[in-house]
Amino acid sequence: MDSVRLKKGKEKAVRQLHPWVFSGAIDHVKGKPENGDIIMVTDSNNDFLAYGFFNDQSRVAIRLLEWNLETEINETWWRKKIQNAVKLRTDLHTDKTNTYRVIFSEADYLPGLIVDRYADFLSVQILTSGVERIKHILLDELQSLLKPKGIFDRSDASARAHEGMEASSGGVLLGSEPPEFVSVRENGIFYQVNIAEGQKSGFYCDQRDNRKWVAEYAKGRKVLDCFSYSGGFSLNAMKNEASEVISVDSSALALDTLKRNIEINDFHNIPHSQIQSDVNKQLRVFREENEKFDIIILDPPKYAPSRSALTKASRAYKDLNRMAMLLLNEGGLLATFSCSGAVDISMFKQIIAWAALDAGKNVQFIQQFSQPADHPVRSSFPEGEYLKGLLCRLS
Ligand code: SAH
Repeated sequence: MDSVRLKKGKEKAVRQLHPWVFSGAIDHVKGKPENGDIIMVTDSNNDFLAYGFFNDQSRVAIRLLEWNLETEINETWWRKKIQNAVKLRTDLHTDKTNTYRVIFSEADYLPGLIVDRYADFLSVQILTSGVERIKHILLDELQSLLKPKGIFDRSDASARAHEGMEASSGGVLLGSEPPEFVSVRENGIFYQVNIAEGQKSGFYCDQRDNRKWVAEYAKGRKVLDCFSYSGGFSLNAMKNEASEVISVDSSALALDTLKRNIEINDFHNIPHSQIQSDVNKQLRVFREENEKFDIIILDPPKYAPSRSALTKASRAYKDLNRMAMLLLNEGGLLATFSCSGAVDISMFKQIIAWAALDAGKNVQFIQQFSQPADHPVRSSFPEGEYLKGLLCRLS
């Protein structure tokens, strides 16, 4: 087996079980490992630290898998890791929902592998060359554990490009092609999911718990759901008898799906309108029209893909939240989210505080939101904690 020796001092994070080694930490590569090979990592004294995937095209040159010298990373090892991840979810979600994240990359000790379940179908993202090599084991194990009707490839092309990998051809990996819309159930609500063309891998199941919590305040209230996608927050508010729901999203496919979702759940009794627009523009339109709301949800896409984008992203979050604050009635609630890993909860609170000052409002944080149990955070990998939110009461 080829090996990589780290520079002096760079072994500390590895000893603390952090799963990444950046290229700058490498002192010497022994042998000629190919991308996706499993190599041994040693400290500056050549003492064993861990085994991991090698990839010299990625900023993260090694993704660590195993810290025990005696353990062989073989087919049994891979199957065990997959079984463990699946067990956590089947323990968690037996009757609550049939859509959840089955495998969450580093958080499940399987770097570069994401698997989502949509009822009888699985959507898979293979984002490292190491995982690409064990694809056959992965598909076989998933098939035997979950017995899906089909497994579909939704590997994100830009994430693969960062690893120096070609875009995958996509499509069906195993079993049958999913229908245009698969029907899933979450919090007692049905959703149509377009696995092949929907955003991300089809549905944002990471907001499952937060949708329910926010909707608890919705009864009799006028709710504005910004960045609604297929209506996660909107539909929960309707179920809890909001007096009116307005959903805003820039994507036509998202709003089309939302319309279908209202139909299949028969939520026609709740007044609803949907606006296809840029949220930043639409909030300004509402302000000009003097529209006010009791609850506003802000669930924007990732504004800070990396730390270097933080300054710009903070400004964007602040401006968005300031505008929303100006549209709330006295005592109104703002449920605001950030899915940027680079923005942690304390920074997010600071941004909201700045927005409140600028808007001339007082804010009380009344609830803090995070990601659900099927998106676990590994203690040695805090980077995996990406979703955060705040329920703010304004006065
Ligand atoms: N709240 C949703 C998930 C939101 S994902 C849920 O519960 O499922 C982010 C959404 O923002 C996507 O649907 C995307 O189409 C939309 N979007 C991105 N930029 C936007 C913009 N500037 N204005 C309006 N919508 C936007």
